[in-house]
Amino acid sequence: MIIKQDLHIHTHCSCDSASLHIPEIVQHCQNLGFEHFGISDHLHTAFNMPDIEIANREFNAFGHVKGFHFGIEVTCATKWECEMIAKREYASCFVCNVLGKPFQTMTPIDGIMYGGPAGGPLQIDLTRDDIERLGIEYVIAGVHKPDYSEHNFKAVLEDWYSQLCYLANHELVDIIAHPWEGLPFWSGDCIVNRSSPQDFGLYLQIPQEYWDTLGELMVKNGKLAEFNPCIILAERIPEVIRFKIIEKMAGWKEQGVKFTFGSDSHREYKEDHILKCDEILSKFGFTENDFGLPEALKNK
Ligand SMILES: [Zn+2]
Ligand SMILES: [Zn+2]
Repeated sequence: MIIKQDLHIHTHCSCDSASLHIPEIVQHCQNLGFEHFGISDHLHTAFNMPDIEIANREFNAFGHVKGFHFGIEVTCATKWECEMIAKREYASCFVCNVLGKPFQTMTPIDGIMYGGPAGGPLQIDLTRDDIERLGIEYVIAGVHKPDYSEHNFKAVLEDWYSQLCYLANHELVDIIAHPWEGLPFWSGDCIVNRSSPQDFGLYLQIPQEYWDTLGELMVKNGKLAEFNPCIILAERIPEVIRFKIIEKMAGWKEQGVKFTFGSDSHREYKEDHILKCDEILSKFGFTENDFGLPEALKNK
């Protein structure tokens, strides 16, 4: 195995569909012989902080396990959104017009997804005080939604790129989660028409310059790039496209980027999927030396 870690695992405390409990997570990771593994529930905004606090209590109550860590997965949100959450101004969450259809969410559980100003400023809703108070050992950061850009490829591509650059420059971030994931989904009307086909070929239209700049930023700022089965193993994405994405990430390796592996497990921990990822990454020339650890996990 070249993969010796799984730093991205959701517990039942996560605000989404996750349902794993700590004892089963530890068991699976020990079965796979991981040297480091950790839980990392979603914090889209501070609205989700109670989830993180419960996960933290469960983590502490479980007791010390060598190599088992407490992390978090934050979303690139906006300053506007974080301020609205702090003021409990949720009105824009309930019903709004998206691509000509009413779109409804009952709570801002995923952040305030519509109604804000496009073009930033961006923000993650986590502070250094939160990190110290909860003993958060590492921060995974991901792009999970457009920050108020239109749902077409051109706009979403620019939005994703600016969010990824923001995260790669953020002092609290250690790992860039699933780079570019979600680009095809949000470049169309899938949010209101779940059956709409996604054009996964859009992943291949990301300009090389964007890959290169992100690689440079990650090296300069000491950020790690995550390999995540949601792209490299997703059956719905044609293999040829998945492999091209891995080739692009192999290009980052040439730039000096180090990687992490995160299964992003939610409902079920699939050990066989991790073995499959290991096989694929080995085939693309990755070795265990290409993987790194967040600063706080070194020498632990
Ligand atoms: Zn994510
Ligand atoms: Zn995740």
